[in-house]
Amino acid sequence: MESETVHLHGFVLRCYSVNTLIIGSGAASLNAAVALHSNGQRNIVIVTERWGAGTTRNAGSDKQTYYKLSFTGDEPDSAREMAEDLFRGKCMHGDIALSEAQGSVYSFLNLVRLGVPFPQNRFGAWVGYKTDHDPRARGTSAGPYTSKLMFEALAAEVKKRKIKILNNTIVIGLLTGKEKGIDKVVGALAIDIKATIPEKAFVLINAVNIIMGTGGPAGIYRDSVYPPSQHGSIGIALEAGASAQNLTESQFGIASVKFRWNLSGSYQQAIPRYFSTEKDGTDENEFLNDFFPNIKTLTHAIFLKGYQWPFDPAKIADHGSSLIDLLVYREIVTRGRRVFLDYTKNPSGPAGEKYSNKLLDKEAYNYLEKSDALKDIPFERLMAMNQPAVELYLHHGIDLGKEPLEISVCVQHNNGGLKGNIWWESDLTHLFPVGEVNGSHGVYRPGGSALNSGQTGSYRAAFYIAKKYSNDPPDVSKFLSFARKQIERKLALADKWLHLEWGKKTRSTFLNEIRLRMSETAGIIREYKKTTEEVSKASEMMKRIDEKLSASNVKSLAEAFRLREHCLTHYVYLEAIKYYLESGGRSRGSYIVISPDGIKPHEKLEDKWRYNICQYDIPVENEIIEIKLSKGKVLITQTPVRAIPVQELWFEKVWKKNLEDKVIEC
Ligand SMILES: Cc1cc2nc3c(=O)[nH]c(=O)nc-3n(C[C@H](O)[C@H](O)[C@H](O)COP(=O)(O)OP(=O)(O)OC[C@H]3O[C@@H](n4cnc5c(N)ncnc54)[C@H](O)[C@@H]3O)c2cc1C
Repeated sequence: MESETVHLHGFVLRCYSVNTLIIGSGAASLNAAVALHSNGQRNIVIVTERWGAGTTRNAGSDKQTYYKLSFTGDEPDSAREMAEDLFRGKCMHGDIALSEAQGSVYSFLNLVRLGVPFPQNRFGAWVGYKTDHDPRARGTSAGPYTSKLMFEALAAEVKKRKIKILNNTIVIGLLTGKEKGIDKVVGALAIDIKATIPEKAFVLINAVNIIMGTGGPAGIYRDSVYPPSQHGSIGIALEAGASAQNLTESQFGIASVKFRWNLSGSYQQAIPRYFSTEKDGTDENEFLNDFFPNIKTLTHAIFLKGYQWPFDPAKIADHGSSLIDLLVYREIVTRGRRVFLDYTKNPSGPAGEKYSNKLLDKEAYNYLEKSDALKDIPFERLMAMNQPAVELYLHHGIDLGKEPLEISVCVQHNNGGLKGNIWWESDLTHLFPVGEVNGSHGVYRPGGSALNSGQTGSYRAAFYIAKKYSNDPPDVSKFLSFARKQIERKLALADKWLHLEWGKKTRSTFLNEIRLRMSETAGIIREYKKTTEEVSKASEMMKRIDEKLSASNVKSLAEAFRLREHCLTHYVYLEAIKYYLESGGRSRGSYIVISPDGIKPHEKLEDKWRYNICQYDIPVENEIIEIKLSKGKVLITQTPVRAIPVQELWFEKVWKKNLEDKVIEC
């Protein structure tokens, strides 16, 4: 990798020239790097904020799921059927669904080859189970830490291949140019946060291509189960003019807050007791009891929450499992209380009944019986079903056998993100968003399909680059002829911030405002009037933020640029939500759209919780909402969903294209 020094606006910048810059070190980025390398492209660099940070390395659940095509046992499956199941999630393009399904086996077995210990039987069957929105037991798992194991296997391969890494380096801007009138990325501007003086902290990357695996927009939410080390950077691509899609669609569910962890699976199947208190811990109340008629209905809903983890407005009525999320949210956000799960005691009966396993409904009873978990209290049931799930909390200083666990309804995943084609290339060409920052999913997605999408998409991006965009980067002087003004604008901002006095307090005030706004306006409850008001406030913040920030050293300079990115990101997300609501979009995915003429899912709920369920019978509901920034203005359009294509599968034809090295065309 070549590098040289560039002097601009009083700053001294190191400029690296590569074929492909890979941003981030999550599972998607690392897989892209390995795939590029194995496809023969060696002139690459991974630039990452911190090796070991991000969601892949640090998130999980009781049994973290990887969704793959089922090629085990007696049950038939096919790429077409898997694509149809992905496509059924609504607002997902069929050609993307097909690409994710076709790439599934290769990507899964690649992880197996690299050493991820997915379970198999003695005949080599990769066993699986059904996850949410999955009719075919396509889910598999290497345990609570599946994605961490993926990170470790891919990271070891990156190291083995000696792929160049710039660690502790945050990309703060994508640089763009034009080729034959078409917008493209030409490189990036980053900050080396280990540099000692700001004037020497900036880094330039002159690149033909950028693979961007920066993960979900974790940093813009207050109530979040993303690991604290994940922030997200989709805003740098939005600022550069890339389109995003389905930004309205995120997943929310119940998670612990002291140590962020997803409370799905056995954490709910053990049937813990839910209670709330005042802020100071007084006035303990089993608030769910007011909304369930008897212990059988209550414990069934808690049990179901295990595999119906994301909040879903279609699962609230008739004492459904998502009524629990709604009531938890109501306690915390509307009533200002705190909510806990207690594994030391059984739930008490809404009608005064004493808990007994014999009072459970058949589904829960059979499950616990088969798991040898028909024990006296939730803690014993959890230990019987999943001891590592208990140990995991112990490891983080929380003994579920002794203390209650504080919870909230938290954001977990963004189904939407940057728009890409079947090679994961953005409409800002030569930019390839991969992993969670690519919004390939629809309104619903099967559990585990995020990890599959990250692996198949990053492989496809790397393959395409190796076939089509393998040329060397231009000379630095040519690169600067495209990018100089864009770089100087950012350096001028840095210069200004470094000469101002106020600091940390302003940054944290802005950040808290952004996070509160997102969790209370763009979480599980959405309302048109409030969204409109909050969009205006977000827009105002956007206008003044450059004037209000400051920095005193390299670290605070990087934080100021990140805050600016978060501000832009939350503004664009809110604009997308506002558009959906004002166009008549109704409750779906993982959120309720409050509507006075809607139905109340429970008679004891206040009138303000009325909503209607999305029917996909109006364009804004059955088309994909795309959003982009152009000259500082938000442009929103709707795109009809592309059907699943019929593939060319005639061997001789496909083989010929391969022999001609035209595989990306067939
Ligand atoms: C609690 C929880 C449970 C989950 N369970 C499942 C599950 O069971 N199955 C499933 O399929 N999915 C699950 N997911 C989702 C899945 O884990 C993520 O979508 C996936 O790991 C994202 O991988 P990624 O490579 O896209 O991004 P990440 O792993 O988040 O990596 C992003 C990387 O980019 C870096 N970065 C960001 N911005 C910059 C920048 N500007 N400059 C340099 N570097 C930057 C970060 O530091 C990090 O290295 C879960 C998520 C959570 C939070």
